[in-house]
Amino acid sequence: MLDSFQKKSIQTNESLNSNNNSACKILVLFGTRPELIKLAPVIFKLKKHPHFQTIVVSSSQHTDLLTPFLKIFELKTDYDLCVMTANQTPNQVYAKVLLSLDAILDKEKPDLILVQGDTTTAYAGAFAAFNRRIKIGHVEAGLRSGNPVSPFPEELNRRLISQLTTFHFCATKENRQNLLSENIHENQIFVVGNTVVDALEFIKKNEQPSAKIEQLIDETRNLKRILLTTHRRESFGLTMSDNLKTLREFIEKNKDTCLIFPVHPNPNVRSVTRKILANRERVFLLKPLDYIDFVALMKAAWLIASDSGGVQEETPSLGKPLFVLRENTERPEAVESEIAKLVGKNLRELLAENYANEAWINSVKPMKNPFGDGTAAKRIVKILKRVLSPAFPPLFYIHKESRRKSRLKTLQIANE
Ligand code: UDP
Repeated sequence: MLDSFQKKSIQTNESLNSNNNSACKILVLFGTRPELIKLAPVIFKLKKHPHFQTIVVSSSQHTDLLTPFLKIFELKTDYDLCVMTANQTPNQVYAKVLLSLDAILDKEKPDLILVQGDTTTAYAGAFAAFNRRIKIGHVEAGLRSGNPVSPFPEELNRRLISQLTTFHFCATKENRQNLLSENIHENQIFVVGNTVVDALEFIKKNEQPSAKIEQLIDETRNLKRILLTTHRRESFGLTMSDNLKTLREFIEKNKDTCLIFPVHPNPNVRSVTRKILANRERVFLLKPLDYIDFVALMKAAWLIASDSGGVQEETPSLGKPLFVLRENTERPEAVESEIAKLVGKNLRELLAENYANEAWINSVKPMKNPFGDGTAAKRIVKILKRVLSPAFPPLFYIHKESRRKSRLKTLQIANE
């Protein structure tokens, strides 16, 4: 039974999937833009597969950012938890997702819940499922920065989700290694690539940008375009204002350059952006873009500057030079492939250097993407079919070898 809070906050799409009783029921949960981009290819494949009944749940942790993406990927949500309110804390998101999802888990009784990445929605979803002994699949498992408070709260969310997860879908071998070093059993880990590459390939093949973005690209055709995104909590405050001032000065000084910045709706980003960049020549402040328009701008960029994780995973496929606006990255592959540079506090120097000598910028070309080959979603669905079959061995066992490695001094009754 849903209590009054839940009745109000859960909006249900009545057109649920077919009542195929023999199908495996998978509940897919997302709440933010990157989760939706990265889960859309998996939902697509699941929906096409006769073996699965798919229930799509959005927490709407980022309401406005999600809507255009649902449209692009032609996705309908079966339930919307409607958790978004202005300026809420991670604790509020966590509590609301936990409570309202619990009612859905009770009603739908899925065989598995699929979560993605490291958001509070993903962590709350995994925890809600664990408490009901529902299996959990984690997409983009095993990313680690090594610093429990950076990115915050994502690093801890990731680690906690790994403790709860039944099937870990890693993008890279390094991510798998991270999980093995935390004594997660190798039979539960699958290296499949990052599903963002699948989503990007879909957009690159299928979609045309809007007239507005085509016009902006045309208007700036003789300029070196810097495409900026910044919205991470660690960048708020001095780091973000310093970076924006540096970019403003660079654009002012170099008349053959321009800055294009889809501004994240977070008030911490909007206010400083307005103060530093509003009404400046050759600075284009835009609303957050849908994926098609953003990909078109990435393709048209002379340089991308971003603190986003997803953008680091996308640039190798697009062959675009990237300044990573962070002190460290848990995705070293882009920097190691020499497609990206870790900026830290050196934005001014790096901009000047690479403007004076464009050798690195010109050398960057589309390459084999170290994060995936565009078939991650297909692999995940194939694996799910196998591991959810009754023939697959039970998973909540403690493997002798990993117990030895962890030197746990506990006794275990072998009851398998
Ligand atoms: N993105 C987008 N429109 C924008 C900015 C970013 O579609 O205006 C895409 C981008 O291509 C990437 C994802 O959103 O796939 C990154 O999302 P975000 O930066 O919010 O999260 P993060 O990757 O840092 O987790």
